[in-house]
Amino acid sequence: MNNRLKIAIQKSGRLSEQSKKLLRDCGIRFSNGKQALIASSGNFPLDLLYLRDDDIPRYVEDGTADIGILGENVLIESALPLRTVRKLGFARCRLSLAIPKSENYNDPAFFEGRKIATSYPKILTNFLNDKGINANIHRISGSVEIAPNIGLADAVCDIVSSGSTLFSNGLKEVERILESEAILIARDRLPAEKEVILESLLFRLESVLQAQANKYVVLNAPNDKLESISNILPGMRSPTVVPLAEKGWSALHSVLPENLFWNLIDELRQAGAEGILVMPIEKMIR
Ligand code: ATP
Ligand code: ZN
Repeated sequence: MNNRLKIAIQKSGRLSEQSKKLLRDCGIRFSNGKQALIASSGNFPLDLLYLRDDDIPRYVEDGTADIGILGENVLIESALPLRTVRKLGFARCRLSLAIPKSENYNDPAFFEGRKIATSYPKILTNFLNDKGINANIHRISGSVEIAPNIGLADAVCDIVSSGSTLFSNGLKEVERILESEAILIARDRLPAEKEVILESLLFRLESVLQAQANKYVVLNAPNDKLESISNILPGMRSPTVVPLAEKGWSALHSVLPENLFWNLIDELRQAGAEGILVMPIEKMIR
């Protein structure tokens, strides 16, 4: 049946809640997948498969699913020729090499002849080959960070976000191999009907992700300051200006990128803005 698109998402783990939230923010309704392996949306031509994240690339490749949400790290480790359709901006992390805190470290030559525990043998092998280093890669599938403590390895190659897990296991991060975030992937050639559904999903995703990346800002300013304040704001077009009941004052409405927010707020205050309100945006269509 080609008139529905099948998406694979993580059944339970760090990606599952945000993956489901993102689809729901796109207005797609479906049941939770606590028991079932598959759910069908009643208001969008999408079926959901709840899987282990490591299985997602293979299932998208072999056609069991058409698209999927997973970490870039897992896609790269799979080495399958799938297309990255959109970066999704959550589950940011990196794949790093870490060694016991007490060891001295200068450069990757440290790893020559050492035993490294990892769940990412392919990515690690490529990294070491690049540097011309021969190490002994020990593949384990969970709790990699305890390997040095129990004498299983000299070092680990593992996912890091804050570094606190490494630290509490007596390890320090010494090389960053890869940056990762959640992505939407697709099989290279989808039937035309499915491509159409994917386009329509992407349109919704874009409006949700754009909205998350921006804030709606309303502020008051004396009319003679409006121009210099407008120049600070990189709005969707020009800001909307509405006169206030108080003579000589206006309210200015605009949209600000979340990442510029604090910098610009200071500039705006210095330029004479008062009563600044900042609000989340639900959907944003350019
Ligand atoms: P599964 O049971 O599905 O195989 P898992 O244990 O392999 O799950 P999780 O720990 O749920 O995987 O992590 C899923 C993905 O989330 C990782 O592949 C990575 O992209 C990202 N991730 C892992 N750890 C972190 C972290 N500390 N911070 C942010 N993102 C992370
Ligand atoms: Zn996994």
